[in-house]
Amino acid sequence: MGDADRRLGRRALLVGGAAAAVGTAALARAELTHLWWRLPGVEKPRVAGAVDFRGARWVPASPANYRRADRPDDYAVDRVVVHVTQGGYASAVKAFQDPAHGAAAHYIVRRDGRITQLIRELDVAFHAGNREYNERSVGIEHEGFVQDASSFTDAMYASSARLTAAICGRYGIPVDREHIIGHVQVPGTDHTDPGPHWDWERYLQKIKN
Ligand SMILES: [Zn+2]
Repeated sequence: MGDADRRLGRRALLVGGAAAAVGTAALARAELTHLWWRLPGVEKPRVAGAVDFRGARWVPASPANYRRADRPDDYAVDRVVVHVTQGGYASAVKAFQDPAHGAAAHYIVRRDGRITQLIRELDVAFHAGNREYNERSVGIEHEGFVQDASSFTDAMYASSARLTAAICGRYGIPVDREHIIGHVQVPGTDHTDPGPHWDWERYLQKIKN
């Protein structure tokens, strides 16, 4: 047993169950990069009411509609999923606060551009209807209707683009249509949002600027 192995042994004792679940290879990798504190289960401190995007209003979703996690350390974040609420802002908030709803997104962007955050980006929101995509993405709802082009205002595009630009910057997500996707593009979904009236070209251009 070399020194490195002995160190790993000690670390494994210290972190116990989490280390066993992660496995020796991951542990060795973490040890090598001095990132042992980033192992799953070693959570970053949280401040009540904190938001991930400056200016967003915090309105918590029901904990039944997301899974507590420690992203990006336990799951890499490499997608932003664009949604449309198919209703008004108030009804979307009500649904996301309803434990029986079974779904919620991290953010809602309103027609006037105001942004509400309901779930921390640390956590896995149930918004994509696909476990893997939930784990790897941040979900943004937009107030309005898929079939109504007038839902998507200048203020909404501008505000949502700033939000997505910040998310892409935070996690190193490329600004392209492979990584910034509609709910419609999630494998296995029967949802069509954001629909044909969502101007992807305009949206991506704004994110880049
Ligand atoms: Zn959706």
